[in-house]
Amino acid sequence: MTSLYSAEQYRALVLAGIPAPAPRALPLDEAFGCVLAADLSAPRDLPPFASSAMDGFAVAAADITGAPVTLAIAGEVHIGSRSEAVAGAGQAVAVPTGGLVPRGADCIVPIEECSVEGGRVTINVASRPGRNLRPAGEDLRQGEILVRAARRLGPADLGAIAAAGFAEVHVYGKPRVAIFSTGDELVPPGGSAGPGQIFESNSHMLGGLVRRAGGDPVYAGWVPDDPGALLKALEEAPPADVVVCSGGVSAGTHDPVRRAFAAFDEVSCLRVAVQPGRPQAFGLWLGKPFFGLPGNPMASLVSFELFVRPALQRLIGLPPEVRYLSAVLDGKLDAAPEAMRFVPVEVIRQGPGLVARTTGRRRSNQLATLARAGGLVEVSAGSGLGPGDDCRLISIRED
Ligand code: AMP
Ligand code: MG
Repeated sequence: MTSLYSAEQYRALVLAGIPAPAPRALPLDEAFGCVLAADLSAPRDLPPFASSAMDGFAVAAADITGAPVTLAIAGEVHIGSRSEAVAGAGQAVAVPTGGLVPRGADCIVPIEECSVEGGRVTINVASRPGRNLRPAGEDLRQGEILVRAARRLGPADLGAIAAAGFAEVHVYGKPRVAIFSTGDELVPPGGSAGPGQIFESNSHMLGGLVRRAGGDPVYAGWVPDDPGALLKALEEAPPADVVVCSGGVSAGTHDPVRRAFAAFDEVSCLRVAVQPGRPQAFGLWLGKPFFGLPGNPMASLVSFELFVRPALQRLIGLPPEVRYLSAVLDGKLDAAPEAMRFVPVEVIRQGPGLVARTTGRRRSNQLATLARAGGLVEVSAGSGLGPGDDCRLISIRED
């Protein structure tokens, strides 16, 4: 009988086999959701020049203190270029929003406060220097940090990076995760399931989990309960950074993962004190991290969140940790004697906090229960939880 690992011990074992990622340059539009590898500084002021914040007339505020005042129109600024026109004494220059502020002007009078007639404009309202002007560097000065390292790039980050003139960024790439499922009883959804057969669901759930964790799933296919077929399938797998395989890790006589690796040291089949999710397999196979997860859907999901997701986080440049949320329990959950339990719960926002409400049904093959749940509450070995107890949960819906 192999020894029983705690979840923390097993995670440490897994993470010891996950290499630190190497940054790469990616075009901006491929970098969404990737983690920035190093601080990015602004190579120039943002905005790069003083511009008008309104459609109107550029004037010297000192010229219009006695408004209404009529000024000669000395010219017009076209957006996207510099104008030769100067707002000299007694003169105004027409300027659009975003236009470069002409020399001589220190404020913009909005068009709504002006009356234009012929080559002259009457300014109806006095102004002050700096009004409706967007000074150079107002947003960020050259050399200041635009986006910090370790940030997962969102839409506004990509916009800011483009505004600073970068076409590509140094980020950690998205790991490709090959997903296999094993089991003679499995048939693909869309066909028909005969007696004793079920539709294969784990690879679809795992694909979603991979995406949610920031990776790219590659659906590598189904493998029968045959160790030789599994090893062949792994050899022929599409290129990927990580392999995740569900089912067949227990000690059953037909379980292909355990049997396939029995003769090899590279992949270990272990028992972890987690319920559901006790049997696990991990190792470097053909140079890539290989995860063998138990096939019960809830066991697969728990294993993914506890062990695969932290590994993917390391590969995408984030801390390799399990993300827990704090909640207050509404219900009662018994502990397992020697395993950390995970139980699906409804997660309800109540005031500033979260409430975890037990659902009653909780077998590890009940996918519909899982689909209705918002999270998985952790129950420590040997100490159950009661109504009103503080607890921690892994969110299985949005982040
Ligand atoms: P195993 O880990 O292979 O012993 O499978 C445990 C349970 O999970 C069995 O009831 C399997 O039928 C089920 N199972 C295994 N793999 C899948 C899968 N890919 N999709 C749905 N159920 C599965
Ligand atoms: Mg099986």
